[in-house]
Amino acid sequence: MARLSDPITMLKGVGPAKAKLFANLNIFTLGDLICHFPRGYEDRTQMVPIASLQVDVPACFKATVMNTPRTAHIRKGLDLTKVQVADHSGRLSLTFFNNRYVTDNLIYGREYIFYGAVSGDFIGYNMTNPVFEAPDSQPVTTRRILPIYPLTAGLTNAAVLKAVRQALAVCDPPAEILPEEVRRQYGILPAERAYFAIHEPRDMAEAEQAKKRLIFEEFFVFSAGLSLMRASRAEKKAPPYTNFNMRPFYAALPFTLTGAQQRAVRDILQDLGSGAPMNRLVQGDVGSGKTMVAAAAAYCAAQNGKQSALMAPTEILAEQHFASLERLFSPLGITVALLTGSMTVKQKKMVRERLLSGEIQVVVGTHALLTDATQFCDLGLVIADEQHRFGVAQRSKLSAKGEDPNLLVMSATPIPRTLALLMYGDLEVSILDELPPGREPVETFLVGEAYRARINAFIRKHVSEGHQCFVVCPAVEESEELGIKAASVWADTLQQTVFPDLRIALLHGQMKGAEKEAAMASFARGEADVMVATTVIEVGVDVPNATLMVIEDADRFGLSQLHQLRGRVGRGKAKSYCILTSHNRNPETLQRLKALCKTTDGFKIAEEDLKLRGPGDFFGSRQSGLPTFRVADLSYDLTTLKQAQEASARWIEDHGTSDAPEAKALRSRIGELFTRAEGTMN
Ligand code: ADP
Ligand code: MG
Repeated sequence: MARLSDPITMLKGVGPAKAKLFANLNIFTLGDLICHFPRGYEDRTQMVPIASLQVDVPACFKATVMNTPRTAHIRKGLDLTKVQVADHSGRLSLTFFNNRYVTDNLIYGREYIFYGAVSGDFIGYNMTNPVFEAPDSQPVTTRRILPIYPLTAGLTNAAVLKAVRQALAVCDPPAEILPEEVRRQYGILPAERAYFAIHEPRDMAEAEQAKKRLIFEEFFVFSAGLSLMRASRAEKKAPPYTNFNMRPFYAALPFTLTGAQQRAVRDILQDLGSGAPMNRLVQGDVGSGKTMVAAAAAYCAAQNGKQSALMAPTEILAEQHFASLERLFSPLGITVALLTGSMTVKQKKMVRERLLSGEIQVVVGTHALLTDATQFCDLGLVIADEQHRFGVAQRSKLSAKGEDPNLLVMSATPIPRTLALLMYGDLEVSILDELPPGREPVETFLVGEAYRARINAFIRKHVSEGHQCFVVCPAVEESEELGIKAASVWADTLQQTVFPDLRIALLHGQMKGAEKEAAMASFARGEADVMVATTVIEVGVDVPNATLMVIEDADRFGLSQLHQLRGRVGRGKAKSYCILTSHNRNPETLQRLKALCKTTDGFKIAEEDLKLRGPGDFFGSRQSGLPTFRVADLSYDLTTLKQAQEASARWIEDHGTSDAPEAKALRSRIGELFTRAEGTMN
């Protein structure tokens, strides 16, 4: 018996060249192969008489070859082979392109099973390139449910299927990790059956069951892992803070905190005084004032002689945070510094020295904070802003620079409560569900192309009043998809034909990091009137002077994403607007977009998104900061997620430290998932 960790090159027909192709799919071992799940199936179990074949509907049929296949050489590189077949119900002519195999293997007078779809025209029915097998052969491509695998150039579905089959024949699938009581309660297939059935289901119902089992398993492992992390953190100790005099901080604020901000601060202070390290997520819609909550935490840390590090995903965000914290803290006698990659070596060295000596109490920075060169005197608090851009790995790297420092994560992605627990199962959550007073909601409209002239006039009006506009496009370049606005092209059009007198800037993801930052910073300084951009502007940069956002082909974005984008405007005192354009006439799509016009409540929008598009959007996207799930490409339902989570929570509570083989197998799987996550989450 082979082992799951054995290389795939031990299989027949998998040499170094094939192995390279498999490597493109991240498949190196037999285990990887067995866990390379189909993305779908073709049901080839239906057998029909020729007369019942329907145009464009593929099906299997049994027929006799009525003549010797004839090949005609049409031109260089194109050979056509034609052959007639028939059954009791009718006749059909088959055409094959460049297929030598046919001439030798379809023999006059014999019967075969074919699978294909007829195309009809007035001359008669015809079928192109059907697959076929002898009726007494083992079904490989006909009379079965054919798994359809994710592929890579040069690797055929048949080759993957063959390799998977062999792997399943020579080694046992991954061990069972779901306790029997759980399987029984949720009607879940045993591991052994599921791993076979996902590749070779007897029928579609079994394929569904296998899929459910594997999804359940993956989420069970994931949430069990989070529960264990949480449990092990609860055992950690941190010196409890004792100085909670926040009065000077509140007095220095130019405003009073909202009720939600006060509640979040209270949660945080409680954590800091608890004697165990804080692990808290502050989740709040754009503009809900997360920065001040973080500032309160940093102030408290400083009052207790501890250093804080605030990590932002981009330089410009780091600079903005630095500026606002500096303004707030310097009158309070707290030293704030900035540390980013683009600073000179000398500047960075200086900051690092002052960090190590303890002179700096609050440092704001980018990934530069993570390098080994950055050392702290006494790091007590780590704050990660816009956490979906950071993985668990980066969070923990920063944390490792102190002794179990307190961790505060801030996220502007409103995640429905149902999912939040699953995604952040290792964190406590405070929610900022209230905006600072006097904030006018961004007024949102959905319009069609007929409004183009009015949109342009609206942009001009905002600019003439001294404000700035964002125009967001779904693509960077024209070629990507026909009829979809591309930022680079649209920027040119606007500059050359619509607004020759205005300053148009461009920002997209294919630009270099430094270029992007420079473009954004320049726009923030007011050096352009209109910024044409892709979704890269999604992350929290503050341009209070921007009062209008036009989102082109808005149907191309998810609701939550649109909401994030829209959050870029409405950050100043002036009333702001968001205009969604769409050519799409699909009633469901329009309903989705209209929902966005009606509400500015990010949580409601996220719930709506979840209802309409399923959880895949939250879990599937790389932005979520979650490990990539092997089954995430398969669609799944929320019920399965919830069941898996309930079951794992209960099970960890009862058996988390048990020595039973299943418990051990589960713990080692958790280890694997989270190690894999380290690599993929950045
Ligand atoms: P977030 O990071 O949650 O999107 P910010 O922290 O950037 O939001 O805050 C958005 C704006 O609101 C900032 O200009 C900030 O100074 C202001 N702000 C924050 N809290 C309050 C408050 N309680 N009252 C008035 N303005 C506030
Ligand atoms: Mg923010």
